[in-house]
Amino acid sequence: MNAKNIICLIILSSVLIGSLNAAPLIESISLSTIKDTTLLVFEVDTNVDITTSRISNSNLSMVFNAASAVTSLKPKGIIKKIDVKPETNATTFNLTLDKPYDFRRVNKTNTIMYKFYAVPVREIKTVVLDPGHGGIDPGAVGKKGTQEKEINLIIAKLLKKRLEDFGLKVYLTRSDDSFVALAERTRFANNKKADLFISIHCNASGTNKYASGFETYFLSEAKTDLERAALAREDGALRYETDIPDPIVQDELSLILADLKQTEQLRESYNLACQVQTSAVDILKDVDRGVKQAGFFVLRGCFMPAVLIECGFLSTLSEEKKLTNSKYRDSVARAIYLGIVNYIRDYEKRVEF
Ligand SMILES: [Zn+2]
Repeated sequence: MNAKNIICLIILSSVLIGSLNAAPLIESISLSTIKDTTLLVFEVDTNVDITTSRISNSNLSMVFNAASAVTSLKPKGIIKKIDVKPETNATTFNLTLDKPYDFRRVNKTNTIMYKFYAVPVREIKTVVLDPGHGGIDPGAVGKKGTQEKEINLIIAKLLKKRLEDFGLKVYLTRSDDSFVALAERTRFANNKKADLFISIHCNASGTNKYASGFETYFLSEAKTDLERAALAREDGALRYETDIPDPIVQDELSLILADLKQTEQLRESYNLACQVQTSAVDILKDVDRGVKQAGFFVLRGCFMPAVLIECGFLSTLSEEKKLTNSKYRDSVARAIYLGIVNYIRDYEKRVEF
């Protein structure tokens, strides 16, 4: 080996050693509580890969591809125990929580924040049904002149009866052909301390006269053009309104807490939407247009899991015919009812720890 080769070998070795030494480092870890939320914050010197696995309702494991300068941590808040396991270039944190929990992770430069909170256990007792449109706002109008507002109200009343027989307290945002502003519907549900909010609509397509099927929305940003079109259609009622509230300005703390509540609420809204959609497709043998996300105004201000159901296309002749048939409408109500009941049973099973 000549001198040049030796120099190359030394450079290569130092590069290798350098890359080994360059494993990220967790420099500090802090644990604090804000109200019901426990914050676990990791400060790292560079970007790290993290695998977070929920082991059970009270256990969580996080694997960082980083060494840790901190090897033990005093538990706090909802976190009852933290085991730190250092490995080569990785550190595993095994957490034990004292209550059924949920969490969110927020990554910022050099900071990884986990927000933990106890899953609120709600007993589902009260449902608000929201027949879409009404009064001067007819909603979609079929080729034969069927008005969406009428079909929505009929289905809502049939559904109310079934849910009451099941033992739930049920309120309608409107029980006749009157105009109710979108924000008023949400406020009503919040005032009634509703556990679920179900907005009932019928669909319309301006471009496809054969469009058909059942779809269920939960709250989120609209992702596709079709979802945006649905938004434009259903939020069209806003044009009849004169008094649209400004978004609420919140401080940072309430934003953190609202954020967490929203995570739970979104997940439950999604679960509810899935159950309703599955039941509808199963019972109505209808085209499955799926569970979708959209930021419908009427769902936005709700403090409870909320979905918006499109029961079929009034703009399609064959679907308009079905929706004007009382037997079919009763099947629609039964399908939604069973979806809600399945959701409640599943929810109760999940929160019974
Ligand atoms: Zn509608």
